[in-house]
Amino acid sequence: MKFESIFLPGVDVKRPLVIAGPCSAETEEQVLVTAKQLAAAGVKIFRAGVWKPRTKPGGFEGVGSPALEWLKRVKLETDMYVTTEVATEKHVDEVLKYGVDLLWVGARTTANPFAVQEIADALKGADIPVFIKNPVNPDIELWVGAIERFYNAGVKQIGLIHRGFSSSNMAIYRNMPQWHIPIEMKRRFPSLPMLCDPSHMGGQRDMILKLSQQAMDLNYLGLMIEVHCCPDEAWSDKEQQITSDALKKVLNDLVIRDTMQTTESLATLRDQIDDLDNELLRLLSKRMRVSREIGHYKLDHGMPILQTQRYDHILTDRSSHGERLDMSGDFIKRMLEAIHSESIRQQMVVMEEAKERPKRSPSNG
Ligand code: PEP
Ligand code: MN
Repeated sequence: MKFESIFLPGVDVKRPLVIAGPCSAETEEQVLVTAKQLAAAGVKIFRAGVWKPRTKPGGFEGVGSPALEWLKRVKLETDMYVTTEVATEKHVDEVLKYGVDLLWVGARTTANPFAVQEIADALKGADIPVFIKNPVNPDIELWVGAIERFYNAGVKQIGLIHRGFSSSNMAIYRNMPQWHIPIEMKRRFPSLPMLCDPSHMGGQRDMILKLSQQAMDLNYLGLMIEVHCCPDEAWSDKEQQITSDALKKVLNDLVIRDTMQTTESLATLRDQIDDLDNELLRLLSKRMRVSREIGHYKLDHGMPILQTQRYDHILTDRSSHGERLDMSGDFIKRMLEAIHSESIRQQMVVMEEAKERPKRSPSNG
């Protein structure tokens, strides 16, 4: 795929690219006051939700098209670019009519291929950048599918926004980062700008700096942050919105690490990692060989492949051992699950092959 870079004259290319503004456009005054504060803080792209996707009816669902007039005023009076979320063909028609500069597709929409296709079709022939938020569920192919639908409709200026994934465990995050997913997206689409939305990810004001720093350290291009002139009175997502002064502080406190040169000492360390990875692969292949031997043993003794108790013991034992070696128990569990599933696959191959061969006698091992 050949994407075009998103070109916004007057917007610095240096990291972080910042998109900021309220979760929802509530009143003309709230939109203009917030926008003017942000413009004074040096922000160049203003966001505000005009239509709000709500999980349940009854919440504030956005003021709809009249708010597009307010965004037009923001453009005229502050010189900022403006962006809003679209979820239907009608939204697209409206934002194009009002001269909104860029669009974003929300997490609930990205998860729905019918809606994405409808928006992509409505955008045929329009020359406007589209930012695609990750889908609510951690399914990377849905995110990729949305990129393909827009691309096939002729949208070539595409950006990505990582806002985290819903999970039943909301103890820390409103939406779990699952950083490996955007990292894989960056690997597959290296030319697409990646932004982080720490507001929806953390769900709390005091998490914004930490998450923004993590995104910058992963070399994201920018941030989309919810800013409101009176966060405590916001009509939606008030726990996570901050003032423009708080935004200034966040941006000021961020450490941007931009050096890309590889020094000799880094090269030496990377050589060590390469050697260790090769060693890991050699050990894994040895482990698989032993697994296959066990597969033969189980076959010869009429034992089933899966021995739940043994597997459970391995998980518990290795994860506490891993923790003693300063790794997260959760990581060790996930790693062992992957190794175990490959072992099982290899033992199944042993069983399958045995069907085609004469039975080995137990004394053969
Ligand atoms: C938003 O940006 O206000 C929003 C609704 O976000 P998300 O789609 O990430 O939930
Ligand atoms: Mn919001």
